[in-house]
Amino acid sequence: MKALVYQGPGSIAWQEKPAPGIQKPTDAIVKIETTTICGTDLHILKGDVPTVESGRILGHEGVGVVTEVGEAVTEISVGDRVIVSCISACGKCSYCLEGVYSHCLADEGASGIGWILGHLIDGTQAEYVRVPFAETSLHQAPEGVAAEEAAMISDILPTGHEIGIRYGAVEPGDVIAVIGAGPVGLAAITTASLYGPSRVVAIDIDANRVEQAKRFGASDGIVSSDSDWKEQVLALTDGLGVDVAIEAVGVPATWDMCLAIVRPGGHVANVGVHGKPVSFPLETAWIQNLTITTGLVNTDTSRMLIKLLAQGRLDAGGFISHRFSLEDIMSAYDTFGRAAETKALKVILTA
Ligand SMILES: [Zn+2]
Ligand SMILES: [Zn+2]
Repeated sequence: MKALVYQGPGSIAWQEKPAPGIQKPTDAIVKIETTTICGTDLHILKGDVPTVESGRILGHEGVGVVTEVGEAVTEISVGDRVIVSCISACGKCSYCLEGVYSHCLADEGASGIGWILGHLIDGTQAEYVRVPFAETSLHQAPEGVAAEEAAMISDILPTGHEIGIRYGAVEPGDVIAVIGAGPVGLAAITTASLYGPSRVVAIDIDANRVEQAKRFGASDGIVSSDSDWKEQVLALTDGLGVDVAIEAVGVPATWDMCLAIVRPGGHVANVGVHGKPVSFPLETAWIQNLTITTGLVNTDTSRMLIKLLAQGRLDAGGFISHRFSLEDIMSAYDTFGRAAETKALKVILTA
């Protein structure tokens, strides 16, 4: 089969690889129908994720059809159309029993990390993928929802919802600010509406992205290169700051921005993947009664999000900016990697 293979920092190739087979009784093999590229894949390509070895097939998102199941798999059958979760969960370890699937202790990949596809084992940017713990790591794709929309459940929608909105403890009436209007920031903006905030402020350095965020439910937008951006945010609150500041970029400057606009008693929810240390001025922040959260998505809300998607309550199609055939994935990486120019959000690859 053909697959997108990481060949060390700065290098990937669409090349021939052996098709995967069942290795464990809890496995399933999925023929990929649709996959997509995550910002995390670009971090891997840059060499920021040294645990990814050369020769690894990338990708942790996708929808496909089950072609084979291991003998212990009874709830998923050959022919089922499924959503591959970015988190693989054994369903049995102490973390899985608590719903903290992101830290599954099973021995696929490495014990203690649930994100293994396209990281520690071969992933979804391929014609076929082996999915471990199939029953607890695949979801049935809802009838009547396009595969490309269902693929937004693999990672971005649960990530924005769980790590941004739920960890940020968004409540009715809150003013929330989302810094970074890329796919995951927009997923936070879109799922914020489930909790009834009074304002959702999208903040980005790119005026186009700020404008676009309004399509996803942002009530207000602020361009962060404006010298008075902070005053503009505070003017949308009672002057004391936002209730919840969500960081969805992953650089020190946007982390600092969150701390600059959160009110005493507020929440800062970090969603961004950071490659450099940030500072936290505890000498001034200690008295602010802040709650700071961060983490890897658990995907424990994916089934709920699938229900909303099936009912037309979530606009997953809005995330899709470009479409390619799977074999043109190298062009798709190029387009996605130049998102500022190409205005790429999610690029869809269809087999
Ligand atoms: Zn991802
Ligand atoms: Zn587990």
